[in-house]
This record gives sequence, C-alpha cells and structure tokens, in this order.
Amino acid sequence: MKQTVFGGVEFGGTKVVCAVATSPDHILEESTYPTSTPDETIPCILQFFVDQQIKTGKLAALGIASFGPLDLKPHSPSFGQIISTPKKVWEGIDIIHPFQNAFNIPVYLDTDVNGAALGEWLIGSARGLSTILYMTVGTGIGMGAIISGKFLHGFNHPEYGHIRIPHNLEQDPFTGSCPYHGDCLEGLASGSAMQMRWSLQPEKLPNDHQAWELEAQYLAYAITNLILSFSPERIILGGGIMHHLGLVEKIKQGTTKLINGYENLTEKEINQMIVEPLLGNRAGVCGAIGFAMQVYAQSLSN
Ligand code: ZN
Repeated sequence: MKQTVFGGVEFGGTKVVCAVATSPDHILEESTYPTSTPDETIPCILQFFVDQQIKTGKLAALGIASFGPLDLKPHSPSFGQIISTPKKVWEGIDIIHPFQNAFNIPVYLDTDVNGAALGEWLIGSARGLSTILYMTVGTGIGMGAIISGKFLHGFNHPEYGHIRIPHNLEQDPFTGSCPYHGDCLEGLASGSAMQMRWSLQPEKLPNDHQAWELEAQYLAYAITNLILSFSPERIILGGGIMHHLGLVEKIKQGTTKLINGYENLTEKEINQMIVEPLLGNRAGVCGAIGFAMQVYAQSLSN
C-alpha cells in the first residue's frame, strides 16, 4: 500500500529544519538551512520538498511551525505573515502562501511553541494528557498551549513571553531588554536579557553565579502564573537556557514556594507537572509533521 507522506518545516531564528515523514516518529528525510533572508531561505525549502516529492510522490499536507509573532487570524489580509519580529528582514513575510501555491496541498501554520507542544503531546512527555503547556526559554521566551486537546488560539495567539512579573529594582536594577515592554518576562529572563544584564553569554555564567538564582525566581513566577491560569497536567520546559544544570530543580522549588499549598497542590504534584522535553530539540519538527497530519485529516473530513 502506498504510504501517506507529510512535510514539516520548523522555522527557527537561526535555522530552518525541513522534513518529510509518515508520522512524527518516522521521519524519512530531513535537511537544515540557515535562516538568512527570505529570498535565500524560502527557495531552499521549496526545493527540498520538490526533490523529496520525486522520491516519495506528492505530499499529502504540509505543517509549518515558526518563530513569530505570526498573523494567524484567518480573515486578516496579512494572514500567514511574520509580524513585528526583531528579525527585521522577515517582518511582513508570508510563510504560508508560497508553499500552498507551489504544492497545492493543505498547509497549516502555527507558532514554533505550539509545534513543540504538539510534538511532546503526540510522542513525548505529555502523551495521553489533555491540557499541556510548552514553555521555551532561549534567546526569547515563548509558550505553546494545548487546552482540552485543542491549541489555544483567540484573537491571535498567546505571547506569554511578554507577561508582567514582579521586578524588584533594588534586587535587580537591570531595566530589561524587551524593545516593547522593557522588563516583561522576556525582558528579564530570556537568554538575551541575561547576556545584557551580566555582559556574558548565559552558558559562560558559572554555576554559583547569582544570575541563576534570579533566573529561577523569574521563571518560577512565570510558571506559577501558568499553573494558576490553566491548571495544566504538564508544563514542559525547553530552550537553551533550561539546559543549565540544576535550573529546572530550582524552578520547581521556587514554584512550590510560590504556590504555597494552594488548591492542595503538593510539592510532589508540582515536581511531576514540570518536566523537561522528552524529544529535546526535536519537538518542533515532530510537531510540524503533526500539524500536517491534522490539517490532512481535516481536509478529508470536509
Ligand atoms: Zn516584552
């Protein structure tokens, strides 16, 4: 029997991962390209799938998980565009229609963090659950959410990295790195914020540096807000900053302290709720394949 093959694209700040697969855990071919300019990168992606289709036959659907913010409002004139990104050459670039037009198949676009959430939900640390969150802390901070089995979308998509958290200027005089809000969560706790505050790349900050206590404190605020807002069964913590040894443990301790027994949430429950991604940095591309499978299933039922 001829197998159904899906395409997936994970648009990251520095690289784009393209894959063809029969399912998120069965990738047939994969390639990575630098995220340089749209004129350079988009043709590379198109060519990858043209070449793959010669081997696999026509793709059934394509899923795209991208950095953003994105315009995901279906009736908006700028639907499918990357909007107000610090990566200026990508601002206003349409990353859905070039693929729809080239391949004439269903294409689904969502945030990179919803992609990672879906990857972990399908084959990672959140399998079989209903309400799960994926938070990534790297250069920026993002959060993807599956609530009662559905992606959380509203007017557009959540931008949890830009929420407000307590900022004690006596303890931390750094005024924040976010060009829009200064000391929002991303402005205080992203990798870029750490680098700006300490004038050192985060991975070069020693283990006993006060930076890590402060980082854990800010992220514990953010995660406490997530728990109280969404009552998730899992919160998956991804991104480069989370690789720092002991940080996830510190965040769990901080969160337990802040929750302070509310809703009878125990330390054990909080420790089980907050996990690291089982798929590591594979969650996004697996999720992009998951997007393609979902949009394909929808197209069959329409
Ligand atoms: Zn902000």
